[in-house]
Amino acid sequence: MRIVVPAGGIGGARFLRGLRAVLGTDASTEERTTDSSITVIGNTGDDITLFGLRICPDLDTVMYTLGGGINEEQGWGRTDESFTVKEELAAYGMKPTWFGLGDRDTATHIVRAQMLAAGYPLSAVTEALCDRWRPGVRLLPMTDDQVETHVVVDDGQGRRAIHFQEWWIRHRAALPAEQIVSVGAEKAEPGPGVLAAIAEADAVILPPSNPVVSVGSILNVPGIREAMAAKTVVGVSPIIGGAPVRGMADACLSAIGVETTAGAVAEHLGSDLLDGWLVDEADAGTGVEGVEVRSRPLYMSDPAATEAIARAAVDLAVELAEGREDRG
Ligand code: GDP
Ligand code: CA
Repeated sequence: MRIVVPAGGIGGARFLRGLRAVLGTDASTEERTTDSSITVIGNTGDDITLFGLRICPDLDTVMYTLGGGINEEQGWGRTDESFTVKEELAAYGMKPTWFGLGDRDTATHIVRAQMLAAGYPLSAVTEALCDRWRPGVRLLPMTDDQVETHVVVDDGQGRRAIHFQEWWIRHRAALPAEQIVSVGAEKAEPGPGVLAAIAEADAVILPPSNPVVSVGSILNVPGIREAMAAKTVVGVSPIIGGAPVRGMADACLSAIGVETTAGAVAEHLGSDLLDGWLVDEADAGTGVEGVEVRSRPLYMSDPAATEAIARAAVDLAVELAEGREDRG
């Protein structure tokens, strides 16, 4: 089976670990007994340039999580990390001080900065970095063009747009957001291989990623949504019992006027895109017109639970794809 997964950071990466186990794509190429493949379309809307370094939080979270280098408790950044570079930058008065870039992580960013400066596109840089981490999936940035999520806030001193990272990390998404904008999206093109991977896929599975700033940003790149809508698409709800499981996705949803419920998120994604939607048992009874909704436990509490969720998503995709064929 060939599966395409548009993914953000933590939720996407954890789900991918389960999906990789289901499809058996984690074995090294020599040992591999499967023809299955997973292509991840990574969100780059969170990307930001700080200290002269291009930082790609979601691509790196997927790469480190699947490559065994992630800080498990935190969900982002490297394991066994230290922050000497950060302290030294602060001693020089370098701003901002709210972004945590560890020493090991800095090496990744030096490689990326050097390759970008030499003229390589982000997709080639990502491939080179993955050469070390062997994530067991093909990781493609959604675009090689610069697209950045900005948030329009009003903090009493007037309306202004700030970078998503400043809103999310510095302000903990506590400044009320009036609007969330993918700056540069309308002129962006899907990255190399993205549309081809979707066209060749047996199904698209939306992991439990932030529906606005992760999955939403990817869908904002012209061409991607249309390509996916032509496929069997099954999504896993990131909202359980009216709340995000972790993180502050509710702040993003309210900024775009969508209720924080599994049903409202599915309606927002749209029945033109979604064929199937997995919701937690707490949300059993959720109905979405034109979408097959199934309920089951959706907490990725451990590897076995995560694998079972991924299996349920694959099974539903297979079932719905067969239904499509029967209908011609
Ligand atoms: P980010 O870039 O690190 O914010 O990560 P993502 O966009 O991939 O995903 C964050 C989303 O994952 C949040 O909206 C959470 O609600 C969701 N999430 C995290 N853990 C779980 C889980 O165990 N189960 C489900 N269903 N959703 C989860
Ligand atoms: Ca993210």
